[in-house]
Amino acid sequence: MAIRTIVQDGDPILKKVCRPVTNFDDRLHTLLDDMKETLRDAQGYGLAGPQVGVMRRVFISLDEREAPLDENGEIREDWEAPMLEFINPEILENSQETETMYEGCLSFPGHNAAITRPAKVKVKAQDRYGNWFTLEGEGMLARCICHENNHLDGITIMDLAESFYEDDYPDGEE
Ligand code: ZN
Repeated sequence: MAIRTIVQDGDPILKKVCRPVTNFDDRLHTLLDDMKETLRDAQGYGLAGPQVGVMRRVFISLDEREAPLDENGEIREDWEAPMLEFINPEILENSQETETMYEGCLSFPGHNAAITRPAKVKVKAQDRYGNWFTLEGEGMLARCICHENNHLDGITIMDLAESFYEDDYPDGEE
């Protein structure tokens, strides 16, 4: 496995529509394994193909559905979330209920975009062997699925933001 470079703001690849994955071969498996290592290293929640320069319809996401909680109801810090792989994803249903939250993107560090998304989504996708599955996600997972799926169509938080706040760390803070 290898850590790949994450494409940054200004690269035109982030605005392109990705092509479907057609070969479920070793090359795809290496891409997915590398994306997982890259996401872990960057401490992100999700990562899409174009963010590592691959114009294919593939993304990954943390899966915190089974996360063990500590006494404060927070996810235990010693727990490492498994990851989900979505290939050729299609969002089948968006809930009527929506949530507006700030979200970031590994390709746009420092920017936090307020975006309204469905609270729940149902998605259909293929796994790394080409088998179709459907999954329902809510909360952060639903948000991540929408965010990463948008990347596959060249849409980013910069296009969807209703407002922003910017991280900055003036001297003496942090
Ligand atoms: Zn992103």
